[in-house]
Amino acid sequence: AFNFSAGPAALPEPVLRQAQAELLEWGAERASVMEVSHRGKAFMAMAAAAERDLRELLGIPDGYRVLFLQGGASQHFAQVPMNLARPDQAVDFILTGSWSEKAFADAAHFVRPRIAAGAQDGGFRAIPPRAQWQLSEDAAYVHIASNETIHGVEFFDAPDVGAVPLVADMSSNILSRPIDVSRYGLIFAGAQKNIGPSGLVIVIVREDLLERSAGRVARIFDYAAHAREDSLLNTPPTFAWYLAGLVFQWLKAKGGLAAMAASNDRKAAMLYAAIDGSDGYYANPVDPAARSRMNVPFTLHDAALDAIFLEESRAAGLLALKGHRLVGGMRASIYNAMPEEGVEALVAFMRDFARRHG
Ligand code: PLP
Repeated sequence: AFNFSAGPAALPEPVLRQAQAELLEWGAERASVMEVSHRGKAFMAMAAAAERDLRELLGIPDGYRVLFLQGGASQHFAQVPMNLARPDQAVDFILTGSWSEKAFADAAHFVRPRIAAGAQDGGFRAIPPRAQWQLSEDAAYVHIASNETIHGVEFFDAPDVGAVPLVADMSSNILSRPIDVSRYGLIFAGAQKNIGPSGLVIVIVREDLLERSAGRVARIFDYAAHAREDSLLNTPPTFAWYLAGLVFQWLKAKGGLAAMAASNDRKAAMLYAAIDGSDGYYANPVDPAARSRMNVPFTLHDAALDAIFLEESRAAGLLALKGHRLVGGMRASIYNAMPEEGVEALVAFMRDFARRHG
């Protein structure tokens, strides 16, 4: 079966098999990776290797710290403003869907968030043209969600926001293609799409920004404190960290992010072509220039067919295609771990379904 869930998402099968084989006795430890001390040599070596591999995959420059933290991405809707801005400071938000909207709402507890650009009037179907953004020069940072998991709207380049640090929620497209990390002040991503199991968040932060929280934030929320302790300030999500490390090794063996991008482009192109070539049987409302390569929402021409589509697709081994309740219809999430054969099977099913239920 192929799992099209938006998250927690499918993990690469070889990774799960390796984890299964090592579950009871990890390396020379005679115990599970979940049972050994996070301050022991074996775990710390594994943790360091995972960070090295992630740095190599993303080309993370010196001068950036990588944090492996407990929790979910939503926590950082609060933690980023806590750390990077003072309460009286403005923060600019670019609203392109539900996740940037949620981050905007949460920031109001800590700073003065402003909507510098937002496409909500059109139902989040495009990225507002850069020329229309009203950025404030005194903003502490600019927040974007680089991929809107629900609305299927994606940034393909880091927008130019001048000297103000750019913060990106990359939860649902990190590691899907090469990026230029130096264009960002801070990147955060929940693990449960392209990295590993939920419970782990990765934060990549430019070192100078760590100074902004000095003395203002409780230690557990303070990025600088986590950086000082190499993400071992308290017990990290050890099993999730280990699995993330296996995913990074898998990505390297697949040829890294350039190879991943080529495969992701092919998958997305195949699926959008099937939607656009269906004579209106299926539809995706997003501006083609901003169509997500990770999450593809689509509707059927008659919503009365939705339940049948879901029942038949499930029976055909195509799982979790139900769309998010905010946009309805279907959603196919085609993260890194989705093989091209999965999308081929989905497209064949969609064509067949349209023929049988025309
Ligand atoms: N940001 C984006 C883009 C997401 O897709 C999600 C979850 O799907 C989140 C944030 C929230 O993540 P979490 O559930 O880990 O808090």
